[in-house]
Amino acid sequence: MIIFEDVHKSFGEFQVLKGIDARIAKGQVVCLIGPSGSGKSTLLRCINGLECYQRGLIRVGGVVVDARSRTIHDVRMRASMVFQRFNLFPHRTALENVMEGPLYVLKEGRDEVCERSLSLLRRVGLGEKSDAYPASLSGGQQQRVAIARALAMRPELILFDEPTSALDPEMVGEVLAVMRSLAEEHMTMLIVTHEIQFAREVADTVLFLDGGRIVEQGDATQMLNNPQKERTRDFLRRVT
Ligand code: ATP
Ligand code: MG
Repeated sequence: MIIFEDVHKSFGEFQVLKGIDARIAKGQVVCLIGPSGSGKSTLLRCINGLECYQRGLIRVGGVVVDARSRTIHDVRMRASMVFQRFNLFPHRTALENVMEGPLYVLKEGRDEVCERSLSLLRRVGLGEKSDAYPASLSGGQQQRVAIARALAMRPELILFDEPTSALDPEMVGEVLAVMRSLAEEHMTMLIVTHEIQFAREVADTVLFLDGGRIVEQGDATQMLNNPQKERTRDFLRRVT
């Protein structure tokens, strides 16, 4: 589903990604962990062309990611993104936020979109909140609307960038529960997270990024319980 081959990315002189090689298969849940500034968000943003990379190759479902090509549209249709901050349209209700993409990008019919969007809101536990504006929703509710909105595009994969780190602690669980249910349905997901316990539970694979390189990657349980590299051990000691 996603293939990285020797991906390099710099901002000016500053090298952020220094040769990333990895593969994410369809239906896999992959957690990307690593210290602040290691390049996690940058790597995620390269996948759907929010950033350009300078060397190597990223493929999403067979399409080569090139932020300057028209094919980037195909990539963005396949890969929805959920950010740390919920990025909802403030002047639209929860339902209208979810309907926006299918109506105006996928150009589906309003009635069908409305029905499907309501069922997505129910799926994230917000059937009662369809007419609420983002400002009247809690952070956890807003993030669940953001997930429903991502799903509304019928993506083949979802990219999450620290979806719970802007939330009050008591709201983290409800968002993780929605993500856990997506994992159970074998949605392909790449999740940047500091929630190591969550990663241990739901991830198939973990990638540990440090200093722009993948220092260690492998089976989630094995890697989180018994990391092979000293740097991974150090990092996990500090965050758990
Ligand atoms: P965090 O855990 O804090 O979110 P991260 O692993 O997501 O960190 P990135 O946001 O990918 O890290 O940033 C990696 C490095 O690239 C950092 O040193 C950052 O300052 C730098 N960087 C990110 N975006 C830009 C930009 N637009 N211009 C210049 N430097 C940038
Ligand atoms: Mg980041």
